[in-house]
Amino acid sequence: MSKESVRSYQKFACDVFTRDKMAQYISKEALKEMTTIIDEGGPLSRQLADQVAHAMKEWALDNGATHFTHWFQPMRGVTAEKHDSFLTIDNGIVIDRFSGSQLIQSEPDASSFPSGGMRSTFEARGYTAWDPTSPVFLAKGTKNSTLVIPSVYMSYNGEVLDMKTQVLRSLEVVESVALKMLKKFGNRTAKSVMVTLGPEQEYFLISQAYFEKRLDLLLTGRTLLGAPSAKHQQFEDHYFGAIDPRVLAFMEELDEELSRRGIAYKTRHNEVAPHQYELAPTFVEANLAVDQNLQTMEIMRRVAERHGFALLLHEKPFVGINGSGKHVNWSLMDSDGLNLFEPGAAPKRNIQFLVFLAAMLKGVDRYSGLLRAAVADAGNDHRLGANEAPPAIMSVFIGGYIGEVLDAIAKGEDIADLEEASLDINVKQMPGVQLDCTDRNRTSPVAFTGNKFEFRAVGSSQNISEAVTALNLIMAYGIQEMLDKMDKLKGEYPKVRDAALAAIREAVQETRRVRFDGNNYADDWHQEAAVRGLPAAKNTPEALYTYLDPEVVSLYTRYGILTHKEIDAKVEVRREAYIKVKLLELNLLQEIARITVMPALVEQIRRYAEAERVLTTGRGKEVLVGKVKYLSDLLGALEENIHQVGAIAAAIQANGSVESAANKLGEDGNKALEKLRAVCDTVEQEVDAELWRLPRYSQILHLF
Ligand code: ADP
Ligand code: MG
Repeated sequence: MSKESVRSYQKFACDVFTRDKMAQYISKEALKEMTTIIDEGGPLSRQLADQVAHAMKEWALDNGATHFTHWFQPMRGVTAEKHDSFLTIDNGIVIDRFSGSQLIQSEPDASSFPSGGMRSTFEARGYTAWDPTSPVFLAKGTKNSTLVIPSVYMSYNGEVLDMKTQVLRSLEVVESVALKMLKKFGNRTAKSVMVTLGPEQEYFLISQAYFEKRLDLLLTGRTLLGAPSAKHQQFEDHYFGAIDPRVLAFMEELDEELSRRGIAYKTRHNEVAPHQYELAPTFVEANLAVDQNLQTMEIMRRVAERHGFALLLHEKPFVGINGSGKHVNWSLMDSDGLNLFEPGAAPKRNIQFLVFLAAMLKGVDRYSGLLRAAVADAGNDHRLGANEAPPAIMSVFIGGYIGEVLDAIAKGEDIADLEEASLDINVKQMPGVQLDCTDRNRTSPVAFTGNKFEFRAVGSSQNISEAVTALNLIMAYGIQEMLDKMDKLKGEYPKVRDAALAAIREAVQETRRVRFDGNNYADDWHQEAAVRGLPAAKNTPEALYTYLDPEVVSLYTRYGILTHKEIDAKVEVRREAYIKVKLLELNLLQEIARITVMPALVEQIRRYAEAERVLTTGRGKEVLVGKVKYLSDLLGALEENIHQVGAIAAAIQANGSVESAANKLGEDGNKALEKLRAVCDTVEQEVDAELWRLPRYSQILHLF
């Protein structure tokens, strides 16, 4: 082994202030106290805060840090930071200072973060507070590092202004009901239950050079126009294909950088669309998983740039090929390390597992609209419902064997031995492959995949906090329902097992409508779902109304996650964000159509008209006369649609409430964008290649 060779685990988490590192800098007693606070919560004394802050500072300075920052997640989704120097000049003496109070709290100027009307600018105070359950880490700059402190963010009056607080609160809620259920089944050892998350991240990598020539990609993250490439993804030759060496170089460096932050990923591979990839992290505790995913997205972007790539996290950067999502794998694990969604060898006997499964069905059945709302934004609208992404209707896929068990219980049948299938793949050298208890249904937005749920409707660029909070609350609701049911059935069924079976039977019968094992992309399903009464919001403004549904408001308020006012603010912020994206798209496409598309078309008309004048008779003349006429009509259509887009943007900018503006953009705005795009794409296919100044799909998607 060469001297430089360092096994990857030696670098793992080297930039994270882990418990091991803390132990090197603080006393045993302080470490013990701090560990209890991290694991179980509780107040942090001023003295302990000072000790921990000192330890962090020493470690950070030892590792080249000059600044520290609270790192938080305002409601705009992406993270925010404001760096403060450790360096302090005190009576002419230069020292490095970082106190307990600086660690615990900071006050960034908050006037420019969205608050949904909760905070007026004149009282712009917002506070960030350290979240000790997510470890601090070092972010490397080109010369020095910054000590980064994961934090929550709230207003002067304690109103929630961020996305993290709701996650932390919802984790406590789901933990407490899950523990109650475990106790009911006689569990005496589990002290806590945590949510585990593994968000698989999809993304595109394209050449930085093309990216810079496409103003639409640069400013909106997606192509607002672009004719399809003759070769798109029809050969499906990219999926799991050999990874291009240039991309592999990117992935290797990414792997290393993530590893330093203590982020391990399990798999990396090519996705279905050309230039599309995915990485799947090792699952960790939910709050940490959210923070790690945010770090991952940021690190990916930086590493991509170093390799001459642009990273596209938009949900639908290109029309006609797959978009990108995040498959959020969600499960519960108790303090004994047992996965509560693990069926075990004979799932039908595993009543506790089935109770948790039934709880999830109850939750999704009652709140499927909330799941849709949680992932609603302008980008994801293009993806949900498109024929490669989960549709906007939230149904659950359970899978063959376990589905059969549930149905048998529902019918009151004796759950006779259903032999576990074993797959004989008929290759002698291979060991027998045990069939998973679930087969795969790639089309379902919520799927049970053997020992966890996979929520596939989350957008690739999104902060997963919103979806995770919704999942946690839905699950808490479902478990509570099962607890109540079992209590009610106690008289009739004195044994917990029997009461549980009876409760499962009822739950399975009640939630039949939300289960769907077929093809979610099929048109039939959309009709069927309408008959079943499942909500199917077609765009973000429509989906957001679900938050205002009294049942949803009650779910958030009764568990103390958000107040009614904070929910209103959330909807307001999300509508405003939607409006900003749509207005930008309208204004930008209009501009590109005017200054890039139209001049190319006019020049083409001129060339054909000139050629036509040269010819006196014959077939060629006919063709050119026809072309000039056709392109001149196209020019008319272009002008008309540019005008239409401009009119909608102007009307929105002029007046109207946020609510009506969002709704109008969701309907008319999107239609106008699509129509103008269609004309532009026709122009692209009609004009001389040298007149078309934008990189084409065929180039962007097949060349680096
Ligand atoms: P699959 O076989 O279903 O693809 P993998 O084991 O390959 O599952 O994991 C896929 C993703 O699911 C990974 O990101 C992984 O971390 C995550 N995952 C696996 N088990 C759990 C769990 N118990 N809780 C949360 N996420 C999980
Ligand atoms: Mg995938």
